[in-house]
Amino acid sequence: MILIKNGKIIKNNQLVKKDILIDDNKIIKVEDEIIYDCETLDASDCLVMPGAVDVHVHLREPGFEYKETVKTGTMACAKGGVTSIMSMPNLKPCPDNYENLKVQLNAIEKDAVVNVYPFGSVTVNEEDKVLSDYDSMKDYIYGLSDDGRGVNNLQLLEQAMIYAKENNFTIASHAEDNVYKYSREGEYVAVLREIELVKKIGCKYHFCHMSVKESFDAIRQAQTEGYTNITCEVAPHHLVLNKEMIKDANYKMNPPLRDESDRIETIKALLDGTACMIASDHAPHSEEEKSQEYDKCPNGIIGIETMIPIIYTEFVKKGLISLDRFLDILVYNPIKVFNLPERDLCVGSVADIAVIDIENEHKYSKEEILSKGKNSPFIGNSYYGFTKYTLVNGEIVYKK
Ligand SMILES: [Zn+2]
Repeated sequence: MILIKNGKIIKNNQLVKKDILIDDNKIIKVEDEIIYDCETLDASDCLVMPGAVDVHVHLREPGFEYKETVKTGTMACAKGGVTSIMSMPNLKPCPDNYENLKVQLNAIEKDAVVNVYPFGSVTVNEEDKVLSDYDSMKDYIYGLSDDGRGVNNLQLLEQAMIYAKENNFTIASHAEDNVYKYSREGEYVAVLREIELVKKIGCKYHFCHMSVKESFDAIRQAQTEGYTNITCEVAPHHLVLNKEMIKDANYKMNPPLRDESDRIETIKALLDGTACMIASDHAPHSEEEKSQEYDKCPNGIIGIETMIPIIYTEFVKKGLISLDRFLDILVYNPIKVFNLPERDLCVGSVADIAVIDIENEHKYSKEEILSKGKNSPFIGNSYYGFTKYTLVNGEIVYKK
């Protein structure tokens, strides 16, 4: 048994002091005061919440273990208060059939300390030429994506959408047109044409890491027309950084940092509900890779350890986002959009819990990073909301 003592939970948009008792892997009591002689975690100064769910994480294993492994990546998740993630399929082998997927599943089974729900790729080896073998993977994957690159072959994409609709999968789109690439057009030209296709087919379709005004306008318009099957996420870095702030390769990602006006539009989309969730796009690279010339070094920054602190500090603490909405965008909406196993903080819920310190600021240092990647633009910044304890399935997987 584990007792979480003196913490506050979110109830009807308020912080309410509650103790939580866990037996085996379940929450068995949530009460004003619980006295019980067992392992006790002091949650004074802390918000106790269901662990966050991040649908956009690059774990890099199999194939790129020098960047990250399932072990280091999921330990970084635990440190960030994230208890469930969806793993992106730009791996080697690429999960485009069951045999390839099995390599990743084995690594997850062996080393993951949080729940990992894999994507299957949309096309074989994400090459945009042949559809992946969905049927062989469908019992083990939780969505389809060719993240890292966009699907530009619209005939293939249409077939993938038909499969997704028939099998109730959500497609997560890294919307990027091959001709325009990183430019603003590169994103919204792809978004516009994909929306037209979704309207025709009707599958659940989720746009990853949206970053420009025209994309949000198009998604907002479609949602207003009643297409609630069209959703999108925004990443912490696009909410708090713009291209004027770029200092080095740790500010390089895809989509890139945009103008201040697009950053404001990204915030607006999160605040008005066009974007229903936050996702980190955690993308570790080695220091060697990131120390190359800016133009040559790979895209991507780590972000799983700082996602909750940034959102809590910059949005909840400043009164821009309510406590209820904080849980929606970090826990409940990702679960809903991708049909993931339910998580909550009620009696009977599986004990996947993050205990985050909301009273004391902490300066994020390179030394404390548990991800193999150290490529964060947020090193040296101070935030509230860093994790004190993380539990997954009733077990403590991170302790500060
Ligand atoms: Zn992407």
